[in-house]
Amino acid sequence: MSEVAIKKKETKIHVLRCRGEGCGALLALEETEEGLLLGNMADLAERDAEVAFFRCRRCGGRTLVEEVEFEGKMRTRVSGFAAV
Ligand SMILES: [Zn+2]
Repeated sequence: MSEVAIKKKETKIHVLRCRGEGCGALLALEETEEGLLLGNMADLAERDAEVAFFRCRRCGGRTLVEEVEFEGKMRTRVSGFAAV
């Protein structure tokens, strides 16, 4: 067994900010260094047809998210931003 496999990798996370121009409000989303969101965020996202997103409380912009398969699990990542 390799030491790398035994050692639990420390995950660096950072809190996402709204990408709205001049906004930068903190969102209730945490992203790992792989660019994946922590938690089952796809279940909490608002939905508009096929698009899943989180609305910024300050500017109303939408942080778009999508589900991706990562290491055999479905995870969520930010796919873009849509201003109001
Ligand atoms: Zn905003």
